[in-house]
Amino acid sequence: MVDADLVATFKAELELCGVRPGVLVAALSEGQVRQDYAQATMIAARELGAEVFHVNLPGRDGKFGGMAGNRPVVEMLKKSDLVMDFMGLLFSHEQNEILASGTRMLMVLEPPHVLKALAPSKDLRRRVEYAGELLTKARTLRFTSPHGTDITYTLSQYPVLTEYGYTDTPGRWDHWGCGFVLTSGDDDGVDGKVVLAPGDISMVFQTYFTAPVTLTVEKGYVTDIAGDGVDANLMRGYIESFNDERAYAVSHIGWGLNEKATWHNLATTRNARSPAMNGHPELGVNALGFYGNVLFSLGPNTEVGGANDTPCHIDLPMRNCSLWLDGQPVVEAGRIVMDEMRVPGR
Ligand code: FE
Repeated sequence: MVDADLVATFKAELELCGVRPGVLVAALSEGQVRQDYAQATMIAARELGAEVFHVNLPGRDGKFGGMAGNRPVVEMLKKSDLVMDFMGLLFSHEQNEILASGTRMLMVLEPPHVLKALAPSKDLRRRVEYAGELLTKARTLRFTSPHGTDITYTLSQYPVLTEYGYTDTPGRWDHWGCGFVLTSGDDDGVDGKVVLAPGDISMVFQTYFTAPVTLTVEKGYVTDIAGDGVDANLMRGYIESFNDERAYAVSHIGWGLNEKATWHNLATTRNARSPAMNGHPELGVNALGFYGNVLFSLGPNTEVGGANDTPCHIDLPMRNCSLWLDGQPVVEAGRIVMDEMRVPGR
């Protein structure tokens, strides 16, 4: 069932994505998942005077990945202007190929109430793009935390990605609900210590840390995971299970600017990934983008065009951190410093 509210939510989003007469929109889904989103896209796109079609593929059991070489579908998507991706082609070669053709893509995986609550705005885009310009100019990034984090990245090798939740730019990817900026340190260019503290988030486990976990990082790789609690053991066991040295690589780094996203959201929805959520598991954009978090991560760097495609990816949003670019403060104890990025009163 598609209700008027969902159609209105999609219509506002498609308008931000530049959908109007002459634009060809593709809805991409798998199995029975998010069929309401595909229908809402088709209705909303038609209301905006655009052309639209829906490609539905067999399910992949909730995994990320590509389309197993389905060339006709890839070619069809490349001919559209905007792909609304309800299956999650993130980290796939097909996604890179579709974007390279000039088609823009929006990944949409969150439940309807999250899409509505975190509906993006031009102001969020402005602030995230400002952050992107700052990060693009920077040659070093350092961040610390009250619990002992102190780590430095040298930056020159990889591009900066902005995520503000919509895209009207040819060849650009985004993710509805996000609001942050990221890049990766140079290969061999990340050194220091990260102390994950109680309240920081492990996206892979959908949990808050309850005890400190100390990661030693040398030349871009985690060389030690210290800590006695369940959190440290889980992290060690999970990464070890991949039998892949590249799983220990430091991945992207950046900070959150989405004032609508909340740190506490995960506490109320962490069981929402179960199939009982009727095709609307929550990926966790609240945790990834909440205002003032420093988003540290481990694993692949294909997102920024790197060669490490390990499937072991762990996003670790951290609170109360301070972050500097070339010595200039950007985040201070979890607060955004610069007026150009700040939300009034925050
Ligand atoms: Fe990530």
